[in-house]
Amino acid sequence: MRRALPAVLAIALVVAAAVFFADRPGTVAVTWLGWRIDVALGVAVLALVLAVAVLWFLLSLLARLIRAPRHFAGRRRDQRRLEGYRALTSGLVAIAAGDARAAEKLHKRAELMFRKGRLESPPLTRLLAAQAALMRGDGTKAEGEFSAMLGDPETEFLGLRGLILQALKRGDDATALKLTARANQLKPSTAWVLQGQLALETRAQEWRKATQTLKQAVKKGAINAETGRHYQATLLIAHSRQAAAEGLARDALAHAAQAHGLDEGSAPAAVHYARLLQDRNRTAKGLRVLETAWARSGHPRVAETYDQLLASEAPVQRLKRFERLVELRPSDPESHLAAAAIALNARLWGEARRHLDQAGAQGPGPWPRRLCHLMAELEQGEHGNGTQGQMQRQTWLERAARGDADPVWVCGACGAETHGWEPLCPSCHNFDSLAWRTPDRREGTRAERIDILPPGEATILDPTAPAAPAQGSA
Ligand SMILES: [Zn+2]
Repeated sequence: MRRALPAVLAIALVVAAAVFFADRPGTVAVTWLGWRIDVALGVAVLALVLAVAVLWFLLSLLARLIRAPRHFAGRRRDQRRLEGYRALTSGLVAIAAGDARAAEKLHKRAELMFRKGRLESPPLTRLLAAQAALMRGDGTKAEGEFSAMLGDPETEFLGLRGLILQALKRGDDATALKLTARANQLKPSTAWVLQGQLALETRAQEWRKATQTLKQAVKKGAINAETGRHYQATLLIAHSRQAAAEGLARDALAHAAQAHGLDEGSAPAAVHYARLLQDRNRTAKGLRVLETAWARSGHPRVAETYDQLLASEAPVQRLKRFERLVELRPSDPESHLAAAAIALNARLWGEARRHLDQAGAQGPGPWPRRLCHLMAELEQGEHGNGTQGQMQRQTWLERAARGDADPVWVCGACGAETHGWEPLCPSCHNFDSLAWRTPDRREGTRAERIDILPPGEATILDPTAPAAPAQGSA
């Protein structure tokens, strides 16, 4: 109805005009060069309206004819630009497909189009050039292109990303860290930036800065809360160790207490805190810390440290203390292995055998190597160098050779094994990547870790990067 309104109004206007002139008849006389024309008023008005309409039509036709060449050129330009972008897109697809030759060809075509003005902005051409250079192994050319991208706010982040990858590839952590901090300022919520910055700061042992980055990463959701707690505890232990080395005993103790408070079951936190307490003559508190940790995780390193803290006590007294650990985890074989070692040390063979049986010596094999060695020690101790003792000992040593490997600290990133826990893997320097487990000799057991760059994302920008397995959180 609203659309028909102008037409209805126009008809009404024409009808009103016709009625107006019909009611008021008259004539118009035109005299020109000796000619005289008399026309009715209504006809004269109609002729005037028609003349204006025809003139308007002719003028607009003329305007179109004048604009036609420009319009045509504009369409041609659009078509060429489209062609340019198609070359660019195909180039990026070729890179994703790992087709270096096609990428190079398409890059040259896109560059030619840019020079001929068919592509308006160089940023994407630069990205294509950098990627093509990376694929043929020309890192210098690629870095040049990525650096040029920093000048344009639209491509700065992309350029930074390329440069960070190149710096990491060279092993230049300092440059990578500087660039990552700049990327963080540009886009503070990007997960790979925050994870990368944390990894680089921990690798540089910048514990204070790493703590700030971790807070930001957890807040922005780049690292989940549970992993964040684990990382925080590890950062606190690292910080505490650094403070202790610098003679800041109070700081060291405060950080260690915080780490233990965050994760009471953590063996590294409890062991470190208990040792610091012992250094300050607070052994009783140290023992309580270890008992708390033992109740939660039953870690052999906690039992070892417990034994070290009791070094001044007589073997029988020590065994009594260890019975308390057994009470905390009565069905855990680790409890009985720890108590058996103490009983053997106290030459209490009966007690040792009882604990070793409970640790599984009477059960079906294969037995853990530690258990076999303790059994061999027991046979030797109980039966001396007699034939029966020697035979039994030999049997257990053979079983040890076939037995299950003992757990050690295994790096989830590089698979390196180490007996002592460290905040950074001694081999690959990954942060918080050591897990206590039986070493797996099979291939492809890379698991929990934080990567400098998420593998999936890294391959988008870096076609030479190997495809990595899915990552989890440590
Ligand atoms: Zn490692």
